[in-house]
Amino acid sequence: MKKLQNKPPPGAKARPLMPLVIAGPCSAESPRQLLETATALAATGKVDYFRAGVWKPRTAPGSFEGMGSKALGWLKEVKQTTGLAICTEVGSVKHVEEALLYDLDMIWIGARTVSNPFLVQDLADTLKGTNISVMVKNPMAPDLDLWAGSIERFRHAGVRQVSAIHRGFFYWTKSLFRNHPWWHIPTGLKERMPDVPVICDPSHIAGDRKLVPLLAQRGLELGLDGLMIEVHPEPDKALSDAAQQLTPAAFANLMEQLGERIKNDSHHDNMLEELRAEVDVVDQVLIWALSNRMKLAGEIAGVKSSQKMPILQPGRWQQVMANALSKATDAGLRPGFVKQLFDHIHHESLSQQQAPGVPKRKKSGIHSIFG
Ligand code: PEP
Ligand code: MN
Repeated sequence: MKKLQNKPPPGAKARPLMPLVIAGPCSAESPRQLLETATALAATGKVDYFRAGVWKPRTAPGSFEGMGSKALGWLKEVKQTTGLAICTEVGSVKHVEEALLYDLDMIWIGARTVSNPFLVQDLADTLKGTNISVMVKNPMAPDLDLWAGSIERFRHAGVRQVSAIHRGFFYWTKSLFRNHPWWHIPTGLKERMPDVPVICDPSHIAGDRKLVPLLAQRGLELGLDGLMIEVHPEPDKALSDAAQQLTPAAFANLMEQLGERIKNDSHHDNMLEELRAEVDVVDQVLIWALSNRMKLAGEIAGVKSSQKMPILQPGRWQQVMANALSKATDAGLRPGFVKQLFDHIHHESLSQQQAPGVPKRKKSGIHSIFG
């Protein structure tokens, strides 16, 4: 993998390094689409690797599953014509073998593949003694150990350059983001494995091209080492991930903006919108948690009533409060605030238990994990 450049001269104020940039369409669709995108990307001078999915892991069968092996030849042509290094996703030993045959410079392991340790080990074994670089996307679940464990498998196999891609995590209800960023996980990975570059994939976190610039900026702000961005000449006509791909012009514009921010050290400027989007999601989680807590309290009321127990159980409540206060202290919250909040919650819970059927929660729009 290309080394990160632009180290500040000695004594200069530390500022983020120019990130490593990977860009290209979600999927390879035709030789023309690839060449048109790659030519525009190469002209920006900002792109280190050209990406395009050849085999696409789709949630439901019957969706576009990629053009398959023949698109590897198209990628090779892109490399020969534009000079850009090329990469694609692999999900099986056969994919790895074919990628090696077509001189790909780098491959990545997708979010759906990385959770399977048997498969990851097979891929790592196939890569022993080869020269290709590997990027490991985070698994769908926010599980740092699983992500780090997969990275370890490739490192143990002797893969020359292993890096990680943060593409966000599955989120159980509708949200502004397609995949929630949970930034503490990629930053936790950097702490645990400081020598593994972590690339931010704002396209798959966002699921919507409007949010891509903000997420890209936030990723760099948090010290991630590069960006993977989906770019398509006609995003709305893309065969996969149409809503999140940028046009080459929008991509060039984003690179300019990010470059300016890095140069002027003014990257704090417009984070407000992205941070607010994250706050909205966390608020949604709070409402979800409250609604499910009340629902469980209702079920407990049914059990208490059938066993002729009193609604108020002071011993149990003291235990709940002690638990909450201890967790809150660990999380850096003021105990006074948490005590007040839990007193309110308890009060509401008791009122609902005493007057079951009063709250109308059915049409809340909050999806319960209990169905
Ligand atoms: C992709 O990069 O197009 C892709 C399928 O990514 P993920 O594995 O992150 O969903
Ligand atoms: Mn995609």
